[in-house]
Amino acid sequence: MISDRCFLGRIAASPGSIDYTGNTCQYACAYCFANINDCNRKEGLKAAINFLNKEKPSTYADALLISGYPICVSNRSDPFSPNNFASTEALFTHLAERDNGVFIQTKTNPECEFLIDMLGPKKAVIYISVSILNEEKSRIVEPKAPSTYERIETMKRLRSKGYHVIAAICPCSDVWLPKEDFIVLTNELKKADVRHVRTFGYEPNKVKRNVAGSQKAITLR
Ligand code: SF4
Repeated sequence: MISDRCFLGRIAASPGSIDYTGNTCQYACAYCFANINDCNRKEGLKAAINFLNKEKPSTYADALLISGYPICVSNRSDPFSPNNFASTEALFTHLAERDNGVFIQTKTNPECEFLIDMLGPKKAVIYISVSILNEEKSRIVEPKAPSTYERIETMKRLRSKGYHVIAAICPCSDVWLPKEDFIVLTNELKKADVRHVRTFGYEPNKVKRNVAGSQKAITLR
């Protein structure tokens, strides 16, 4: 939750050092480190709103907030996963009133744009991960997330509104994204006017999917 967590591990790569975490994400990606580590996370909306409105700062996170550091929503869940959508709307009404930037990490949702627009003229930065172009593989590995092509369509619409969009090819593996698919994907990103792309290498030969608290190994070759 936003009140007691600072997200400092990759501060050079992810500038939002204050992290809001919602409920455990329902997109159920097999490689999700957050869900593997905690499949029963509950949102911290009330604590987050209290944190944003705290009168007497006393913690390091408070100091970051007051100094204007951006807020990451979220490094451990997806703010637009259906079970987070309503809370994200409530949170964004408060974030819209602050000067802090907002760094959104997501796999999107067909309805997410109006929430992003709610943040107003400061314009959130939206970091959207894509890993697999092949729809059949994607439905196995990221079964409930919007398809990669749907995410690219959202990127395109956000870019047309002037948002800073970062496409994260994450995890990036030739098992899930062979070279020929990588080329198609990067061309699609270019057509969508996405100007910032980053990759994270990963070995997905054996990943553990967390399903209702039990971990299963899955293999995709
Ligand atoms: S969308 Fe992100 S937070 Fe949600 S399950 Fe997938 S990797 Fe995890």
